[in-house]
Amino acid sequence: MIDIKELVPLADKNWFKTGGNARFFATPACAITFQEAVQFAKKRNLELFLLGKGANILIADEGFDGLVIQPQLKDICIVNEDNETAWVKAGAGVSLDLLINWCLDNHIIGLEEFSGIPSTVGGAVYINLHYFEFLLEHFLSSAEIIEAQTGNLFTVQNEWFNFGYDYSTLHEHKHYLATATFKLKKVSFEQAAFAKGRSAEIIRHRTRRYPQKNTCGSFFRNFHEHEVTLMINDKKMLYVAYYLDQLGIKGNLHSGGASVSSQHANMIINNGNATSTDIINLARSMQKMVLQQFGIIPQPECQLIGFKEKRLI
Ligand SMILES: Cc1cc2nc3c(=O)[nH]c(=O)nc-3n(C[C@H](O)[C@H](O)[C@H](O)COP(=O)(O)OP(=O)(O)OC[C@H]3O[C@@H](n4cnc5c(N)ncnc54)[C@H](O)[C@@H]3O)c2cc1C
Repeated sequence: MIDIKELVPLADKNWFKTGGNARFFATPACAITFQEAVQFAKKRNLELFLLGKGANILIADEGFDGLVIQPQLKDICIVNEDNETAWVKAGAGVSLDLLINWCLDNHIIGLEEFSGIPSTVGGAVYINLHYFEFLLEHFLSSAEIIEAQTGNLFTVQNEWFNFGYDYSTLHEHKHYLATATFKLKKVSFEQAAFAKGRSAEIIRHRTRRYPQKNTCGSFFRNFHEHEVTLMINDKKMLYVAYYLDQLGIKGNLHSGGASVSSQHANMIINNGNATSTDIINLARSMQKMVLQQFGIIPQPECQLIGFKEKRLI
């Protein structure tokens, strides 16, 4: 039976290291207890939030007045294979780095382009994890999901997720991911060793370019085509970091204990004593500055949890 805890701190469970408590907290380790946790929330009419590694969220200082479920489904296995392809199934709570290394050790490649991105499988599918031109949707074959209304578990195929940039059907909060199955390539020992090298190089590159703690990564998402008019080299400039960079705010804009990273204009850092309110205030200042200079408003990629207002400005 699922064990539900009360008043559990969330600050130590997210990358910003801020935010209040969860009123209820559950860590189901299998699909059945995951379903029980969903039904617990349904019966009590509680708001429900699915927590992965907390690498892309900001939790309100007041906390979350509902049930937080942090799935601990951690199995990885090959469910099918032929001469060239392996279908690898992983639980929602599996760390992506662990999955990548498991695959490489078993001479299976594809996911290593996402090396070094802090994520669980659940969080990765939710956001359609991306790194340059690589999108997780290109690898996801099928998944087991739990319906919020009923707690029922069923299997869906890739198309069900309606993937887009920073989007999957999971954003509608009517279903939660229990497991995902990825269609990946089987390779020789030498090719797997080469992919391991590439994985290590990507991690080295990321460590040099981005801050590695007390941040949610990119705070704002890139723009959609219809949102911008600025053309550079005959292409619309969609990268939000480009606009933020022009403002000269890297390492120079602060609010309380929160600052814009000196390495990346789209990353906010908790310097040690920031509150979530500091981070929100800083994000609002960044939005206002982009609006003033370019007439467009960046919108958060970071998921705001426990806030009454999901839009900043
Ligand atoms: C230093 C750093 C670098 C980053 N670089 C990148 C990058 O290059 N590319 C990129 O795409 N992202 C990047 N991110 C953002 C982050 O790593 C991803 O969004 C990641 O997928 C978050 O996974 P998580 O497990 O921490 O999810 P969380 O942050 O815990 O949750 C994120 C969202 O996923 C939902 N969710 C989690 N599990 C489930 C589930 N089982 N079912 C349904 N919904 C679920 C949550 O409810 C929430 O809405 C970076 C973050 C950091 C801190």
